[in-house]
Amino acid sequence: MFQAIGLSKTYHVKKGEPVQALRNVNLTFGDTGMVFILGKSGSGKSTLLHLMGGLDKPTAGEIVLDGQSSANFKDADWDRYRNHNVGFVFQEYNLLPEFTVRDNVGIALELQKKKVDESVIDDILKEVELEDMGKRKPAELSGGQRQRVAIARALVKNPKILFADEPTGALDENTGKSILALLKKLSAGKLVIVVTHDRDFAEAYGDRIIELSDGIVVADSARPAE
Ligand code: ADP
Ligand code: MG
Repeated sequence: MFQAIGLSKTYHVKKGEPVQALRNVNLTFGDTGMVFILGKSGSGKSTLLHLMGGLDKPTAGEIVLDGQSSANFKDADWDRYRNHNVGFVFQEYNLLPEFTVRDNVGIALELQKKKVDESVIDDILKEVELEDMGKRKPAELSGGQRQRVAIARALVKNPKILFADEPTGALDENTGKSILALLKKLSAGKLVIVVTHDRDFAEAYGDRIIELSDGIVVADSARPAE
């Protein structure tokens, strides 16, 4: 189980009023399933994802994963949380252009000082349908293939939660659908939380849709059982 409890975030900017990006967000998630966070630009979606993924710290509130609260986390605990529990996928892929597909995936482990098990990388490339692309560089791939590399890189750490921030934002509609179908498949075995502003995608693929407006959860609905 994963929870966000009373999460708030205020950004202080050099000039102007502080920005209250998130206000007392409380959410509980199960261990698997595909959850969408839906909302207009500026509603706080990325902020919520960053806080839940440990990329940024809340002004107030905590996250709790399998009974462990972030309330007393030191920097080393945040590092451990990010390294072992969560994977991130971004709209812009964020791949290393000089490295092959294989090495882009393997480096995620090396950065954690873990031994790179080539067979694990083989399995993951297969899972994202890139088994023949391991030797290519990102520039030699389509946008959808690049996003699959980014997903593979997030998966290699075997995280409990996969966070994706507008993962289809740079892709055409059909390629976007194939990425969401892949994330949906993965959500059978882990919690997948996807930020989008595309309601059609959220309704087509989500097991649950959480809507944010102005930093507040304004709707939260699970798909009715079929
Ligand atoms: P979304 O992802 O839904 O578009 P964000 O979470 O990025 O929304 O932003 C929510 C609000 O917080 C917006 O008003 C945005 O301008 C503000 N914001 C986001 N990041 C920062 C930051 N680093 N500094 C100041 N304000 C920020
Ligand atoms: Mg955003």
